[in-house]
Amino acid sequence: MRIARFSIDGNVAFGAVEGDGSPGPADGTDGLVLNIIKGIPFTDFELSGTRVPLSKVRLLPPVLPNKVVAFGRNYAEHAAELGNEVPPEPFAFFKPSTSVIGTGDGIAYPSFSEDLHHEAELAVVIGRMCREVPRERVADVIFGYTCANDVTARDVQKREKQWARAKGFDTSCPLGPWVVTDLDLATASDLTIQCTVNGEQRQLGRTSEMIHPIEDLIVNLTEAMTLLPGDVVLTGTPAGVGPLNTGDEVAVTIEGIGTLTNRVIKRG
Ligand code: ZN
Repeated sequence: MRIARFSIDGNVAFGAVEGDGSPGPADGTDGLVLNIIKGIPFTDFELSGTRVPLSKVRLLPPVLPNKVVAFGRNYAEHAAELGNEVPPEPFAFFKPSTSVIGTGDGIAYPSFSEDLHHEAELAVVIGRMCREVPRERVADVIFGYTCANDVTARDVQKREKQWARAKGFDTSCPLGPWVVTDLDLATASDLTIQCTVNGEQRQLGRTSEMIHPIEDLIVNLTEAMTLLPGDVVLTGTPAGVGPLNTGDEVAVTIEGIGTLTNRVIKRG
């Protein structure tokens, strides 16, 4: 099931996406419909049967995470392209909840950077409160998967030891367009992941190229901290990161999930 979060007439709701494709122009031609969910999707829920065309709503970030934890340098070719060693252990950093935006929202170019980069990543959405998760139980704590863009002020990342500003500024964490809940862990661990800028391919990889697979990332993280329903784990980016300019349209597409599209805007 594909679960979207959206606003309609000032109300926020979750809905199951029906139909094929990704969000298109707001003219109804994408053929996608939302079957509104009663309640919240992290517990047992029912579909209301009330349907609205996706083009008539505004998609929101599919979850409101308490925290986003991102893993760095988890694809060897990407580590090499930035001149970094591959870390022997996974290493994580935070992106604050206030960095999260949804598909169609603007990425505001930070005033303190001159080198903004895209990083297409598979995002794991946690479904239940968990800590010290053993490897064989990792699938049980995953709610689903979505696309993410770990937008990074690369110049700031290079000159500041901690990445709170470089990777945590407002709008630096686009997530969406929805969460896919019926991919099993093995399938999610071997998907094509792509990033385009203005329609031109920049990044192309497979999630199977991760140095530390999803299971290891969740084990590593939950050794240290409790994860809550809706928390998001970013799994690293494949090679091909590069600059974004104001006005660019950046799209992250993951096989079996969909396309997350955002435009870079001037900070207002
Ligand atoms: Zn990243």
